[in-house]
Amino acid sequence: MAQTIETQIKEFCTAAGQPFSYDIFRNVYIWFGILWGLPIPLVTTSMHYAFLASHNIPSPLTTVLTTPIQWFFMIHPLLFGTLFGILGCVRREKERQVTALIDELQELSTHDPLTGLSNRRNFTRIFADELARISRRNADLSLIFADLDHFKFINDTRGHQVGDQVLKATATHLRACCRPYDTPARWGGEEFVILLPDTDEQAATLFAERIRTSLQAGLSPAISFPITISIGVAQHLDGESLDGLIERADRALYHAKQQGRNRVLRWRSIPPASR
Ligand code: GH3
Ligand code: MG
Ligand code: MG
Repeated sequence: MAQTIETQIKEFCTAAGQPFSYDIFRNVYIWFGILWGLPIPLVTTSMHYAFLASHNIPSPLTTVLTTPIQWFFMIHPLLFGTLFGILGCVRREKERQVTALIDELQELSTHDPLTGLSNRRNFTRIFADELARISRRNADLSLIFADLDHFKFINDTRGHQVGDQVLKATATHLRACCRPYDTPARWGGEEFVILLPDTDEQAATLFAERIRTSLQAGLSPAISFPITISIGVAQHLDGESLDGLIERADRALYHAKQQGRNRVLRWRSIPPASR
């Protein structure tokens, strides 16, 4: 974005007030400035000296160096050092702003802004990494697909903002239940997924059951009404894609809803005819 002259002057003045602009031990730009300004007194002194010599005016170097005009040239390295130091400070601030902006964009592109959980795109990337890792070690990988029960009713009766609070509290709850290497994510709306490395379907089902019962026991003091969740669980099959795994966990979730909600169902427990 183009900057106005006023903004640039403001940035320059702000940098001029920063100690970093004059910190010769950390701000390398000061030294560039000094080196940049150094030829000026060297050239003017030698010209001055040569001029006096060519006109046969005997004059020692000390006399040349102490004339006011040479003082003016001699302070140039200092002036350049100061100017470059301030510009170096402006640049450092700009770099800091760009880095902060990149971090923010990265956060926005990988995380859901409401809950702070990974979004679908980031989850897909993490799944690919995790799949590569477990394939190398021949380990288990399971997925939990969770959906809040009658969430629309909460929105309709208590308002969208309360609905948002419930989503946030659910995300906090899921994060707290997870191990450091599990990946919880917001799949969309009131649907959450959790990727569980080194976990088979049975262990994942026990984990999901813990989530369900603890959530039912109370999400947070701010949410005084009961919340329940239905969960489908599936273990990754050899060569299966994320879509395939999600589909099976979603299928288990569908059956959990069909059976009355507020329950956990694993894919293997669904009769083959109903899958
Ligand atoms: P079920 O038990 O069958 O899952 O019913 P449900 O009401 O939970 O499911 P349904 O799909 O009918 O409704 C989901 C609702 O979630 C509808 C939608 O408005 C709401 N929703 C989706 N995203 C958000 C959000 O970010 N904030 C809020 N407050 N509501 C959301
Ligand atoms: Mg729901
Ligand atoms: Mg839903």
